[in-house]
Amino acid sequence: MAGDDPKEALFLCALQNAVKHGGVPQAGAVIGMVMGAHPELRSRAKEVSALAKEAIAEVAKLSPEERLATLQTRAPEMIAAMSEKHEKKKVLPELEGAEKGVVMRFAPNPSGPLHIGHARAAALNDAYVKQYGGRYILRIEDTDPKRVDPEAYQTVQEDIRWLGLGITEVVTQSDRLSIYYDLCKQLIEKGGAYVCTCDNEQFKELKQNKTACPCRGNSALKNLELWQKMLDHTFREGEASVRIKTDLSHPDPAMRDFPAFRILDAPSHPKVKAHVYPLMNFSVVADDHLLGVTHVIRGKDHIANTRRQKFIYDHFGWQQPVYRHYGRMGIEGVVLSTSQMRAGIKEGLYSGWDDIRLGTLRALARRGILPEAVKNAMIAIGIGDVDISFSWDNLYAENKKLVDPTANRYFFVPDPVEAKIEGAPAHTAHALLHPSDEARGTRTLEFTGTALIPKAELVSGTAMLRLKDLFNVKIAWNGETPTFSYGGDSLADARAAKARIIQWLPAQAIVPCTLITQEGEVKGACEPAVKGEAGKVVQFERVGFVKIDAVDASGVRAYFTHK
Ligand code: GLU
Repeated sequence: MAGDDPKEALFLCALQNAVKHGGVPQAGAVIGMVMGAHPELRSRAKEVSALAKEAIAEVAKLSPEERLATLQTRAPEMIAAMSEKHEKKKVLPELEGAEKGVVMRFAPNPSGPLHIGHARAAALNDAYVKQYGGRYILRIEDTDPKRVDPEAYQTVQEDIRWLGLGITEVVTQSDRLSIYYDLCKQLIEKGGAYVCTCDNEQFKELKQNKTACPCRGNSALKNLELWQKMLDHTFREGEASVRIKTDLSHPDPAMRDFPAFRILDAPSHPKVKAHVYPLMNFSVVADDHLLGVTHVIRGKDHIANTRRQKFIYDHFGWQQPVYRHYGRMGIEGVVLSTSQMRAGIKEGLYSGWDDIRLGTLRALARRGILPEAVKNAMIAIGIGDVDISFSWDNLYAENKKLVDPTANRYFFVPDPVEAKIEGAPAHTAHALLHPSDEARGTRTLEFTGTALIPKAELVSGTAMLRLKDLFNVKIAWNGETPTFSYGGDSLADARAAKARIIQWLPAQAIVPCTLITQEGEVKGACEPAVKGEAGKVVQFERVGFVKIDAVDASGVRAYFTHK
């Protein structure tokens, strides 16, 4: 067991590191690995650090061949673990026709801030552009006035900046209405589209029966005339639309002569005053083509659109991009519906778009999830077409990989109880800011007689607790009331008594701290030094990683990130 023989554990870790990376490992890396696997050694940091240096010196004496042979005989499982990790590294599958570079796009509707569901398309397209080189277009799809929130033009851009996408250009569809009108005219001239003035219900019935409506047979000239009447307001909402000529006998009725343009009499659009708006399938095809998009990664819910869009490509004689449709991703535990979020914010149920009960990227940022973790999690999910449910645990694991090496450690005592400890000497604890990076230094906690400890640790009957980096505390119980006395410094005694090693604070030097979790608030206290960590993710030891959200005269507010 490493706790009893840290020497062996350190030697094997140093050896594994040397075999994996070549050369001689850094002490910090070896200590980090050993402490990670054997947390009980953390209280023996000095001793471990000295032993690590010895272990590294021993490894340095061996040739590369001797290192491998030694690891093979003494810890073959460590070699297996190395290759497993290697195999697990996720790479996205190749895309055909991408060798010479790609043009891809992320095309959100500006209906509200981006949420975790959007992140998949955003991250996968981004990763492919990075993999193959090329352009990455952000296309704001705002041709449905009902799905436009004026503020979202900015929030979407902010969210994208936060995600760190490699966007090379931004296109807003409402700026391009004249382009779509022009293409519509061309398509009418080619006989690929017609203006339909049928009553909607009547058209539906004909369509169900695979029958052409009377408008379908109009000449191009007649259609151009009607199209002009759409544009010049002669027709009102519901009186005319442009339809794409498809296959009236197509087995899927949704493919039959679907609409491409519609009239809106009183649209409230923050950017344009128009009477005729393209529908998504038309504007998407126009832009994918005109912007030179080569590959489209989007959800399975767009498969029917891809089929519809093929008719438009064929009429124009354009080549379709390469598509990949990934499976649906169920996301539980947070609110994602934009309308539900908006209503909740209005009612005061949520504090804003970054309320941590919501699934927005801003809510994730607020609680300390890093954008790289979001992207890595999405790339790990990949472009498979199987429906899945999103795993928060995987996202947290990705995030932990990033924050664990950087987050400073502090004590936070939830629901604190004052423990006056009889017979305890005044004592200064030096607790590592990071268990595997001694160079970062220590925090100083000055014990002068009374400690704050978490109420939850005072389970009736508990005979001993060890205050981390300090000493042992004996507890005597008078009914439900505990009294505390000094229990010596020995870690071995604490172990023998199966005492929990808990976080604590010197009662005279604390800052009030509120920890906000998705389930509610936890009131407590933390070390004063936490005030210097505003905006950063730290670890509250034994509680989890938290983001220090705000620091003011009344104390610290932190959001729970994950364990
Ligand atoms: N704006 C569409 C959406 O957010 C995306 C269009 C597309 O991928 O073609 O669903």
